[in-house]
Amino acid sequence: MTPEQKLQFMTAAMNEGQRALPACRPNPPVGCVAVREGQIIASGFTLPPGQHHAEASVLAQLAGDVSGVSLFVTLEPCSFVGRTPSCAHTIVEQGIEHVYVGLIDPHSRNQGRGIAVLEEAGVKVETGILKAKLNTVLGPYLITNE
Ligand SMILES: [Zn+2]
Repeated sequence: MTPEQKLQFMTAAMNEGQRALPACRPNPPVGCVAVREGQIIASGFTLPPGQHHAEASVLAQLAGDVSGVSLFVTLEPCSFVGRTPSCAHTIVEQGIEHVYVGLIDPHSRNQGRGIAVLEEAGVKVETGILKAKLNTVLGPYLITNE
């Protein structure tokens, strides 16, 4: 994955996230794309509360076929079970090997724990991709607690 590709795919995930508004509120408008062999094969965004988060939406579309798939997600996957299952755990269970993350989630129940869940399971994680742009576009929607 070249630096240019990383920016390209995270930009696609960011644009996908914009489609979540306003129905996703109060959850943040996260976007996610799945990439295989340099092509986006699935994309998703935060659905209304109680429905799939962006990552879960994409994983559902992949239907278990994750060989060679990398995920690009604009926000750290959630590590805790809230209204929906934990995305970080779902990513691990599905066998995704590589996750590219935009922003670390400032939520008091996440704050790096989602990244830790992935890394402890052996998933390769790279954070901070498109960070400045995402801070502008996604940052205002992030919540620090409930
Ligand atoms: Zn989640």
